Amino acid sequence: MAVTQSSTATDCKLLVGGKWEKSTATEFANVHNPSTGELIARVPMGGQADVDRVVEAAAKAFPAWRETPVVERARVMFRFKALIEQNYDKIAQAVCREHGKTFAEAKASVFRGMEVVEFACGIPSLMMGECMENIASNVDCETMRHPLGVVAGVTPFNFPAMVPLWMYPIAITCGNTFVLKPSEKVPLTSLYIAELLMEAGLPEGVFNIVHGGKEAVDAILEHPKVRAISFVGSTPVAKYLYEKGCANGKRVQSAGGAKNHIIVMPDADMDQTVQALQASAFGCAGERCMAGSLAVPVGSAADELIPRLVESASKMKVGRTDNGEHPDMGPVITSDHLRRVQSIIEKGAAEGADLVLDGRKVQVKDAPNGFYLGPTIFDKVKPNTTLVNEEVFGPVLTVVRANTIEDAIKLGEDCPFGNGAVIFTNSGATAREFKHRFNAGMIGINVGVPAPMAWFPFTGWNNSFYGDLHIQGRESIQFYTQQKTTMSRWFKSSDSKFSDPIWKGKN
Ligand code: NAD
Repeated sequence: MAVTQSSTATDCKLLVGGKWEKSTATEFANVHNPSTGELIARVPMGGQADVDRVVEAAAKAFPAWRETPVVERARVMFRFKALIEQNYDKIAQAVCREHGKTFAEAKASVFRGMEVVEFACGIPSLMMGECMENIASNVDCETMRHPLGVVAGVTPFNFPAMVPLWMYPIAITCGNTFVLKPSEKVPLTSLYIAELLMEAGLPEGVFNIVHGGKEAVDAILEHPKVRAISFVGSTPVAKYLYEKGCANGKRVQSAGGAKNHIIVMPDADMDQTVQALQASAFGCAGERCMAGSLAVPVGSAADELIPRLVESASKMKVGRTDNGEHPDMGPVITSDHLRRVQSIIEKGAAEGADLVLDGRKVQVKDAPNGFYLGPTIFDKVKPNTTLVNEEVFGPVLTVVRANTIEDAIKLGEDCPFGNGAVIFTNSGATAREFKHRFNAGMIGINVGVPAPMAWFPFTGWNNSFYGDLHIQGRESIQFYTQQKTTMSRWFKSSDSKFSDPIWKGKN
């Protein structure tokens, strides 16, 4: 059992060597259902003692797992994928309950995570090395990919299923053993999925879970047996993890926050653009690292775009996502986060931006204690203000009007982040120029959220990523393996002139 029922809520357990165990922590963080504000679980805020237990379990499992033939490791993933499919709705419901995504959004996120499992099923091919014979006379050379050992993943609240799935299916199938530290705000989905992973036949100790916050993460960063760390979260923490992990001699890939620009040219298909921009800005209540949170209509595009967008967004239904209803948008993650986003809205208005749609007026009648905020739009926002510089991570769209595409490209150059950027246009030449020059690592052309699929890397730039090898795709195989190069020369006889009897047919 991943959780124990107490009088108030469930206490999350650690997964240590295939067993659900109690944490030694004495402090707990509360997990709330954001749709209602109800307390649903308590997470132990573990530290070094808990981290030692899971890392030791992972280290113990490593020698046998790395010797397990790669096809057998991949077969566990085939079974895991089938179990995810069978339990698709249940996983999505777990995401809705602890995170507040709509059921459709939760299902889509689980599907994207499952695609990483499908990618991991191909690791027997993807992990192959290179070889060449006769690099010198009778000398052959080959590289083989070896797993690293114990690797860890530290994940954010906004995709309880998908982001952890970006990491461990690939790490494990490459032959590593894994320690996951899920977000203390959304630990339950990971516990449920871990049960499926064990049901798929993963040997004990190959996948482990520890809970907590900074103290647990610091213990992972300092543990001598942890070889590599994958991190996804906010930029300050991503930078901290990268610097501390590298200083401690670990491999680190660390994805941070974002501010994604959506450029709209006057020749764009406005019906498609309004729909895609609305989904990009307000989907998942804006809590997406690829959310189109900064719209940049160029020239006359604003005159048509903004009134249509405000009208359409104002009709979005905001409501509970935990009771089988299907609103257009759910709550934000916590009451603290709600207050933070509200305070940014106040600041944006105080800095002189036009608040053309105010989501603070939204009320959900049957859930007065839920953490709700409706779609919010600021028009005519000035460059270098809070709304332009900071990641809001809520349903707030900032509109900066630009006179030319050069002005729009300049906004990207001034932006400290660099995850995604999108252009809506019907001009191939404009799109090509934008793709080539815009200062971001993932580009969309008439696509609202250009988040790459599992077999492509998630190529954030600037303060949106610290490291060399990105999450997903072939880069992730490189990240979770180390290469060994072997040069070999075999002598067939003392004078190496093929005089051995075997070559002369004498034996
Ligand atoms: P967060 O940085 O607060 O937390 C992420 C993880 O780090 C959690 O597991 C948390 O326990 C841990 N953590 C928090 N503070 C820490 C500290 N001081 N030291 C060590 N560990 C710490 O992020 P969040 O609020 O959970 O998630 C939202 C952020 O994640 C947003 O900024 C979003 O853009 C980003 N994100 C980025 C991507 C990407 O691919 N670039 C994807 C998803 C989310």
